[in-house]
Amino acid sequence: MSELQQPRVLIIGAGMSGLLMGIRLLQSGNTNFRIFEKGPKVGGTWRDNTYPNLACDVFAVAYTFSFEPNPDWNYRFARGDEIQKYFERCERKYGLSSFIRFSSAVADARWEDGRWKLRTADGEEDEGDVLVSAAGALHHPRYPEIPGLGDFAGPCFHTARWDHTVDLRGKRVGVIGTGSTASQVVPGIVDKVERVHLFQRTPQWVMPTPDQKVSQAERARRHRNPWLLRLQHRLGLFFMQVFSRAVLGNRLLLRYIEAQCRANLAAIRDPELRRKLTPDYPPACKRLVISEDFAAAIQRENAELVTDSIARIEPGGVRTADGRLVELDVLVLATGFEPYKLDFKVTGTGGRNLASRMEGSPLTYRTVGVPGFPNFFMLFGPYSPIANMSIIENSEIQVEYVMQCVDLLRRGVLRSMSPREDVSIALKEAMRLAVRDTVWAGGCNSWYLDADGQPIVYPFRFSQFRRELASPVLSEFDTA
Ligand code: NAP
Repeated sequence: MSELQQPRVLIIGAGMSGLLMGIRLLQSGNTNFRIFEKGPKVGGTWRDNTYPNLACDVFAVAYTFSFEPNPDWNYRFARGDEIQKYFERCERKYGLSSFIRFSSAVADARWEDGRWKLRTADGEEDEGDVLVSAAGALHHPRYPEIPGLGDFAGPCFHTARWDHTVDLRGKRVGVIGTGSTASQVVPGIVDKVERVHLFQRTPQWVMPTPDQKVSQAERARRHRNPWLLRLQHRLGLFFMQVFSRAVLGNRLLLRYIEAQCRANLAAIRDPELRRKLTPDYPPACKRLVISEDFAAAIQRENAELVTDSIARIEPGGVRTADGRLVELDVLVLATGFEPYKLDFKVTGTGGRNLASRMEGSPLTYRTVGVPGFPNFFMLFGPYSPIANMSIIENSEIQVEYVMQCVDLLRRGVLRSMSPREDVSIALKEAMRLAVRDTVWAGGCNSWYLDADGQPIVYPFRFSQFRRELASPVLSEFDTA
């Protein structure tokens, strides 16, 4: 054990969960850690995504660390830039900056002689007792494999790499994709552009949850009454837990969600447009889109929903299968992400490669560990609870678990712990059985599915997740 008998912890990524890991280590008195961040600042998702109308569709009061409530949210659903500022404020307030190596991409980490040896792309080296991947689940833009994509003559960019040098005013803009992102982008640009053409491959269920500005008086009340903010935080989380029962198969709640989504569709005036926007799979099978303004935006005179499939991209626009050329000046790819992809190499015991554990059908242990990778933890990795919930609460539970493991090392109870393969396989089997009863197995295609078409989402109640990660069960590990 190194410096001050505190285990050295190497953290990859300074997004929400990497910051949280750093804060909790500092709070426990451990200053023996470093966060490697490949970008120039903290924030992860909220740093990378800056597209118009970006907001978090989880209640803002619940989208904070539990120990750092924010009385200053301006909207019921916080805007992307205020969330980014919140995380930057946390970085400053908790004194994390000097622990973060910015613009420092991890190239590889390997378990050798009972420690993690890490190397960055710049050739810097570090060694630690514990390695934590907080690299983010939806981090690598998915660029669609559409013939001719590189031939487009105008600006073409992914929503997570928004090009703010491009002035959209008076332009004909194409948006490919109809997920949560596109449903925010279209209302965000429709007022500015000459025309927006939304290319839909699959319709999405949209639940219209009203947003509103938080009044000055309400913000002042939250400042004066910290208990009120805490209560609102708890209520926000409670609401999401009720919602999560729907995706786990609660028919009554699902019927409620479907009724809301159908009412949203019923308000579409043109029956043909309504038909095109109506999905043929159960609501929330793909991630439910929460949007109050998408339906209005797509009905605007200068908006068009294009449902003919895309044949190819040409310099002048998008050619659809029926031979039409949709002429465009700008093309926006709202085509999602390659989930859980890692751009660094992690080598565990016996030369095991983490990528081969993650590709295809991932094998993980209770959402945080991977067999064959001692003292290695993932935050928000495959099988973590997702859907329309605050992933911050999820990360807090995972980080508390990792903190307990770090403490086992500090107290000398063990030097290394690696999840047992047989236990991990049995747990995965149990999840695969349980996931059949969830809405994610409802026959749709989504980023929740692995290469076998199986949802890699935690299929049990959140209370069970909390119990499972309450403390490490040492009999489920190979320890040394
Ligand atoms: P997404 O949900 O994966 O949607 C990608 C869209 O692109 C889909 O409509 C997909 O069509 C379409 N697409 C992909 N490849 C295509 C191709 N080759 N041709 C035509 N269409 C293609 O991605 P996203 O909208 O970026 O959202 C990803 C996740 O980010 C969400 O599920 C959510 O977890 C998170 N998110 C959250 C918020 C929030 O407010 N909290 C906001 C935005 C995003 P198919 O459906 O046919 O595959």
